[in-house]
Amino acid sequence: MWVESINVAKKWMEDRLKGDDGFSKYMDNKKSFIDEKKIWKCLKENRDPSPSKIRSIMDEVLQNKDCISLEDCAAILNVKNEDLWKEIFHTASIVKKQVYDNRIVTFAPLYCSNYCVNNCLYCAFRRENSVEIRRRLTLDEVKKEAEILAKMGHKRLITSYGEHPLSDVNYIANTLKAIYSVRVKGKRGGRGEIRRVNVNAAPMTVEELEILRDVGIGTFQVFQETYHMKTYSEVHPPDTIKGNYFWRLYCMHRALEAGVDDVGIGVLLGLFDWRFEVLALLSHALELEEKFGIGPHTVSFPRLRPAANTPFVQNSAYKVSDEDFMKFIATVRIAIPYTGMILTAREPEHIRRRVIHLGVTQTDFGSKIGIGSYRESYNEQEAEKQQFILGDTRELDEGVRWLAEMGYIVSFCTAGYRCGRTGIRIMKLLKTGKEKIFCKLNAILTYKEYLEDFASDETREIGTKILSREIEEVKKLVPERTFEKLMEYLSRIEDGERDIYF
Ligand code: SF4
Repeated sequence: MWVESINVAKKWMEDRLKGDDGFSKYMDNKKSFIDEKKIWKCLKENRDPSPSKIRSIMDEVLQNKDCISLEDCAAILNVKNEDLWKEIFHTASIVKKQVYDNRIVTFAPLYCSNYCVNNCLYCAFRRENSVEIRRRLTLDEVKKEAEILAKMGHKRLITSYGEHPLSDVNYIANTLKAIYSVRVKGKRGGRGEIRRVNVNAAPMTVEELEILRDVGIGTFQVFQETYHMKTYSEVHPPDTIKGNYFWRLYCMHRALEAGVDDVGIGVLLGLFDWRFEVLALLSHALELEEKFGIGPHTVSFPRLRPAANTPFVQNSAYKVSDEDFMKFIATVRIAIPYTGMILTAREPEHIRRRVIHLGVTQTDFGSKIGIGSYRESYNEQEAEKQQFILGDTRELDEGVRWLAEMGYIVSFCTAGYRCGRTGIRIMKLLKTGKEKIFCKLNAILTYKEYLEDFASDETREIGTKILSREIEEVKKLVPERTFEKLMEYLSRIEDGERDIYF
């Protein structure tokens, strides 16, 4: 069955490309924007940076909120003095606050299919993993999963699919339509629904991405996993579709060409030297900015996690320690100040607590990563149905309360893409700090909705205090008319109206 699938997949790929390799037209002089020699040179030439140099890089970021150069980023990565790292962590948390305030966006993953023709060494869904139970949700099952998530209070999902003709773009588009059609009643009243669906899937052609654009995709996520070409070909066998490094590397170019404005890039930490990956992520951001005027909407940085029958994970030579994980997050925060940064429930609570202030803007709660696992609630030990094993399985309500206890407001806002604040427009708003105000107002409105409809008494109590604090803050920041409008919207929410936004 699997051999047949691989042949079907190869034919499927050839038919989709029709002679176009999907990347050459974007290359300058047939040269990729990941310049490995330059990355190593930058790391070598910026060894032992002086504290004054590092401080002046940080000052400039605080002023401009622009990406820094590869040389400056390499200098930060080469810092050895732990006290100077404390200053870098502090600056990263200020950058986060300046651009994204004290908001954290939450979401939940929805795994739709684990059929996959690829054979990535680190993944339980790889085609040669015979213990994995294969399944693709029907559209009715997708809807039922989304209903459960909407009943928890989630407004954003990220759907995930293996690469396979069974989960082609038409299937993906239909899952999005199924999810957007969901309407449920809140626990306390009001209405639950999923308002933004981000997609994590295999790279696609421009035409396929246009189909996803038209059904209202949120962010399109494809992680390069590792930008280091030799390592890439070791962990992604060359006889697979994913074995094609450049097809994957240029998929965000195709997404932006297709008008999918919000793109999410990422690496799987533990495959190669994390310092190299930071410089490669920055190169990717600079390339997208140069070619399209838009950097990545989000950067993801999962660390390798144990997975069923997947020994590679235990044997990796590049595991990232907790201390280096903190340095990775802080450096990316400073290097690409405007980008959203996603920390997932792969990480256990104590790590999430330790790193969240360094620049994280999005995280998930109540997550289950088996196919159909929200409805069927099989236990965490049934690893053969999952891609990897989660580190934090707290419910959304507990997560919202936990964040409130640390002073964060959870934003359930999904207004941005629905009123055109995406792509270049949102980049400008983020860099100038204007998006902060829209987001602050919308975070207040959606938090209020959550507290009204879904929160437990305990969460509602602490959440109400956070809400009052936010309202007081916003009063000082916006014109009187805007504040009056906010108060009017809040009272309309109390009266039962939903999905009001600025
Ligand atoms: S990482 Fe993705 S492409 Fe690779 S085997 Fe897993 S599901 Fe398939």
